[in-house]
Amino acid sequence: MYKYALVLVDVAKLGTKTFSYLIPKDFKDKIKIGQALSVPFGPKRKIKGYVVGFSNYLDESIKAKYIDEILESEPLFDIEYLKLLEWVANYYFCDIATVLKTALPQKFFEKNVKKYRKPKKENAALKEESGLIEHNLSDEQQKVYEEIKHVNAQNSLLWGITGSGKTEIYFKLIEDTIKEGKNVLFMAPEIALVSQLTMRTINRFGSQNVAIWHSSISEAEKYSVWQRLRQNEIKILFGARSAVFAPIANLGLIIIDEEHDTSYKQTMPNPRYCAKNVAKKLAQLYGAKIISGSATPDVESFWEAQNTNSLFELKNRYNNAQLPDVSIIDMKSERLEGNLGIFSRTLVEKTKQTVERGEQVIFLINRRGFSSYTQCMECGEVLECKKCAIPLIYHSQTNSYKCHYCGYETKAAKCAKCSSEELENFGTGSQRVEEIARKIFSDMTIARLDSDSLNTKNEHIEILQKFQQGEINILIGTQMIAKGLDNPNVTLVGVINADLSFNLPDYRSSERGFSLLTQVAGRSGRGEHKGKVIFQTYNPDNLFLQKAKEQDYLSFFEKEKELRQEYDYPPYSKIIRIIISSSEDFMAEHACVEIAAHLENYIKKLSLDERIITLGPVPCVIGKIRGEYRYNILIKNKLGQKGHDTVLGFLRRISLHKEIKMTVDVDPTDIL
Ligand code: ADP
Ligand code: ZN
Ligand code: ZN
Repeated sequence: MYKYALVLVDVAKLGTKTFSYLIPKDFKDKIKIGQALSVPFGPKRKIKGYVVGFSNYLDESIKAKYIDEILESEPLFDIEYLKLLEWVANYYFCDIATVLKTALPQKFFEKNVKKYRKPKKENAALKEESGLIEHNLSDEQQKVYEEIKHVNAQNSLLWGITGSGKTEIYFKLIEDTIKEGKNVLFMAPEIALVSQLTMRTINRFGSQNVAIWHSSISEAEKYSVWQRLRQNEIKILFGARSAVFAPIANLGLIIIDEEHDTSYKQTMPNPRYCAKNVAKKLAQLYGAKIISGSATPDVESFWEAQNTNSLFELKNRYNNAQLPDVSIIDMKSERLEGNLGIFSRTLVEKTKQTVERGEQVIFLINRRGFSSYTQCMECGEVLECKKCAIPLIYHSQTNSYKCHYCGYETKAAKCAKCSSEELENFGTGSQRVEEIARKIFSDMTIARLDSDSLNTKNEHIEILQKFQQGEINILIGTQMIAKGLDNPNVTLVGVINADLSFNLPDYRSSERGFSLLTQVAGRSGRGEHKGKVIFQTYNPDNLFLQKAKEQDYLSFFEKEKELRQEYDYPPYSKIIRIIISSSEDFMAEHACVEIAAHLENYIKKLSLDERIITLGPVPCVIGKIRGEYRYNILIKNKLGQKGHDTVLGFLRRISLHKEIKMTVDVDPTDIL
């Protein structure tokens, strides 16, 4: 019997913290990890807290108070769950409180200490459209399904070309899991936006069995879903990356759809966790299986699956629909021939023909806003955010200039250097594409879908619905339209500027570019008519653009693998990125130089310098964000867990001047 309970509370100013409380005698047999309690705090207050541990010892200087009441005898999480969060804190270099804050709904810490009462109406938005829909698997699907079913590996990768029916295989596996009395976590990227898969899931399994979890559902709803999960009332939790922290009882299967998507990784704020990685830990702790799927898997996932015999391939589209024809159009020659516009003549012509046939068109432009930068025509200065070292982007809708990093917005249209008002917008964003498309295709119905066009979540669903019902001829959008859209009437996809996805200074930019182009191409020709895709480019010789044209993942992978090996990038190493920032440029630089030198020395002394390679310090590609100057050190760790522990152990012992901030990004998805 323990004397003290460690209780997690959230107090204004102090943040999320644990304190020790004495356990009253008559609670001793009842108290459990994960229970909600009421505890005294300060002279008068009572607050809500959660049991996260027990002990018999307390520093003599601390006078513990007694727990006041057990609010809910049913625990809201268990010890395995705490182990998971602890692992996240350790692996991603942050404190457990930060992880708890991310994982638990805000409502856990609301001020009043009321007990939870079940709301009367739940998930009103989720109504099935029709009866439950079930499909028979095709022969190929059936074969792959059986293979996956009988494999021993904990993680399997389902690699199937776009439109091959990966979802049908997930559904079958989900069904089996439910039949065994277990529950399922079904993750998809940015599901606030992709409602099609949500609807398919609900239509298949019934709304009473499915709950939804992502960052934009309300805290109250999250809390209620949490309760239902704990009580084993939900069979499938469908969610974005944060759903990996939901407390699914009896977890049997985790599906990670479109596993290549970088939105599985949280880059801001801490914890900078990757939900795919956390899912692996989760599966280990609860003995669940993971099925990840993509047409263009993450290079690391593919490599791992190949090396562990857990790769399963779907080679054909469902119903033997053919992959679309892709052609590349050189915009340099268009210019030479007198067409200075953003649409090639071929794309204009094909668009008209497609719409005349009653079919639909998608234009991808992977940049929101109107243009990409604004320049002063008198002195050449580019308009920049005052707080971030990046260009401001003109938005025609609001007639203002915005910083896509910090959200700063200004209407003032003057050069910061010479005050001239002779400003010109260069480059092409989605708003400009829309404006020009409305002129060229004036008799067609056009809609734009990007994060600027969405005032409400419903607006987005409405646009997608109209598009599905054929009421929109041309849909223009950023990368968000490349995700999961399944409209058999789309037979033309035009990529306005294919180069945009490739030219970030980042080791994963080829992968991202290839994957985006292949995915968006995969939106074309999913029905009975063969699809067409046009990539417009100023750089037609780009090798990875060629690979995307061929939609040949394997050949892309082989090439990319070679490059990664040559430069020791993942999967041949794991990367840890250390970012040092400060509002004083010289302080950030100085601290970063010092840390790099000490770290390098430390690694050398351990004779690990051939397996743990430090690069830098160098200024970050984006040298300033929100007024903080940024420098970084990149570590390529070829020593696995031991290397990870060595580096993070070193970083934990550093103490920094209070003006200096250290951020550690483990397995970063970008290094900007
Ligand atoms: P992917 O996720 O691999 O791109 P989907 O699962 O979206 O592919 O399938 C593409 C289309 O084919 C969808 O409209 C889906 O309903 C249909 N489809 C796939 N498999 C089957 C099946 N076995 N029976 C009926 N329709 C199917
Ligand atoms: Zn100027
Ligand atoms: Zn800014």
